[in-house]
Amino acid sequence: MEDPTLTAALGRLFGHRSFREGQREVIDAVLAGRDCLAVMPTGGGKSLCYQLPALLRPGVTIVVSPLIALMQDQVAALVARGIPATFLNSTLSGYEMSERLGAVASGRYRLVYVAPERFRSQAFQAVLDGLEISLFAVDEAHCVSLWGHDFRPDYLRLREALARLGEPQVLALTATATPEVRKDIAAQLGFGAPPRATAEVVVRGFGRPGLTLAVTRTRGREQKLARLLALLPEHPVAIVYCATRKSVEWVAAELRNRGLRCLPYHAGLPDERRRETQERFTSGWTDVVVATNAFGMGIDRADVRAIVHWEVPGSLEAYYQEAGRAGRDGQPARCELLFSWADVRTQEFFLLGSNPPKALVLEVAKAIRGAPAGRPLGLGEIIAQASDGSSAGAMAVETALGLLLRLGAIERLQDPQGPDAWRAGPDPEAPRAEDLARLDAKAQRDDARLRRLLAYAGSPGCRHATILGYFGDPQSQGICLDRCDNCLGRRARLGPGPHASGAGLGIPGSPPPGREPTEAEWVQIQKTLSVVARMGGRFGRHRVAQVLSGSKDQAVTRAGLDALPTHGALSGLTIAKIRALLDLLEEAGCVETVGEDYPVLRITPFGADVMQRRESIQLPSRAPKAPKAPKAPKAPKAPKAPKTPRDQATSGAPRAPREKPSSKPSAPDGIVARFDALRAWRLEEARSRGLPAFRILPDRTLMEIARARPRQRDDLIAVKGIGPATLTKYADTILALLARIK
Ligand code: ADP
Repeated sequence: MEDPTLTAALGRLFGHRSFREGQREVIDAVLAGRDCLAVMPTGGGKSLCYQLPALLRPGVTIVVSPLIALMQDQVAALVARGIPATFLNSTLSGYEMSERLGAVASGRYRLVYVAPERFRSQAFQAVLDGLEISLFAVDEAHCVSLWGHDFRPDYLRLREALARLGEPQVLALTATATPEVRKDIAAQLGFGAPPRATAEVVVRGFGRPGLTLAVTRTRGREQKLARLLALLPEHPVAIVYCATRKSVEWVAAELRNRGLRCLPYHAGLPDERRRETQERFTSGWTDVVVATNAFGMGIDRADVRAIVHWEVPGSLEAYYQEAGRAGRDGQPARCELLFSWADVRTQEFFLLGSNPPKALVLEVAKAIRGAPAGRPLGLGEIIAQASDGSSAGAMAVETALGLLLRLGAIERLQDPQGPDAWRAGPDPEAPRAEDLARLDAKAQRDDARLRRLLAYAGSPGCRHATILGYFGDPQSQGICLDRCDNCLGRRARLGPGPHASGAGLGIPGSPPPGREPTEAEWVQIQKTLSVVARMGGRFGRHRVAQVLSGSKDQAVTRAGLDALPTHGALSGLTIAKIRALLDLLEEAGCVETVGEDYPVLRITPFGADVMQRRESIQLPSRAPKAPKAPKAPKAPKAPKAPKTPRDQATSGAPRAPREKPSSKPSAPDGIVARFDALRAWRLEEARSRGLPAFRILPDRTLMEIARARPRQRDDLIAVKGIGPATLTKYADTILALLARIK
């Protein structure tokens, strides 16, 4: 029931007519004196959850906020409403700070925003000691999580500060809804144990029933482009998210070549151009932006009709946050992920780069601390020293630098005229053993986050329910209203009706009306998958089809493929039929095509389960005998000129732009192709030896080999992780493999 007094206060103090989803629950908990963790999406109105109680109860509300610009904006907005609020952060001069502390101590303000570093200051502590604190709000609370990318060590001091302040009531707020981060926040703030045993968690507002969620399986960028060109005319205001700067440039150029107005956006472009692009998009001059995840903060446009992900992002949270920028005006919008297994490899590669091994972190710290006479070192020097001058990648070194910087082990000297340099920082003990121990766990968690995204992409279930279930939002059931490709596909299979066909919506990725394979078809499917598995991801689709058909073609015999026990497993079928079967298995996610220049076919983990009949797939019901090839995407259509937008509203994420610096020399496509090929070889080797893959060679070593690109044995010896045993066993194979890749 709406409390009229509270609603009246909302109108009087903030000019809003009603509460947004979740706000009432959180405010009720706060006013009842309970500690609370509020998880609501960006733009959901979290600030009001502490601002309103701050004005309804006596005392001061302390708001810890990590982003100086945002805290200043919020204070300015409150002051404009006549609300006594202020901030304390590093932008104030010494004089201003002491003046303001005096005013805070005298009780002039009801809301005091502070950066987490403030708790290091004795003067500030002394002022706090004398205040009556009604609420201690921790904004962007995921910064307390050691697993979050935004981890801020100063957030760890908050627990101590709370104890010193006599355990005031806490409201933590975040938009990062992953269960592990949530658990971490609760643990770090002491929720769930006395004196905060009754703390509450409120997760609300993530449901976006207006968005149609879809995943379209694609092979190669031409197919993706065709799909994108089919989508844009129907969704003229759109953001196309890419994983790398290189993809951004490519996609933007292709769209422009076809007469479509669009702008690229990534962190490698000059500030001025980025600002201009953002303004043009927000004001409606440009309706299509092709961007990396750097395009996020401050996108103030409500009528975005489509968010297309050209490549998979690194996690389900990242995906949903970006997808959530569509349809802020409440009108229907489409979020489509163009899925390809080859892009997953790119993300895996990034994961390795963003999780440097402990030894590398220590080497980086040693190099900087060991510089003669404390001379600051540049990135090039650090890479050369910490990585023995050759193989460790720039990306991993940069990640190590970021980590050491956050831990206070090093300091960065920013020179506006030249590149940054690093020297020893204030904490000579850092990194401590526990900091290093966290690295492995973080690598595992990052990997698990990517797997969750892949599970979402491959899931036949309702996509809305999958996402909300993952976030723990209680509205996860029944939100879809047939607004995801899977539910639309199921509808279609259930027979005619008002929602019967997904095809009318132009969704090539939506599941066709299907049926279980017959026993005879099962045999064909299992044989095909078994051949793909045995060929170890080293051969293309045609060669696989030849082997299945029992071909004695020279290319087959030269590679010794006619000696495989499965050679000729489908000798009764024509090559065309076998290729159609392979297409169908790829469509179903059982096999994948990897590599742009030399695309090879390999089995996926799902395919391995299907091969064992632990999982099943659906076949098109109109083809009872032999499975049919799926239709190719529609031919590219020239999109119409974009329309002028209608209105604007808020969206965007209060986060510093972060993107994978993949257009740097650290992760060019050639490395990814080599890494891919090495993994495919390792898989086969592991299978043939009956060993787990990492026992052959760990991912990290494969990455080092891919980076170093050794051409002879001596180069290979220099690669980190290659010992004499590996050299004897695999040197020739690895060198031959690499020689085949451009
Ligand atoms: P968050 O911190 O969750 O990202 P904010 O607290 O900054 O979001 O709120 C986003 C916008 O929503 C602000 O402009 C705020 O004024 C507005 N807002 C918050 N609550 C309401 C409400 N109940 N009704 C209308 N607008 C609201």
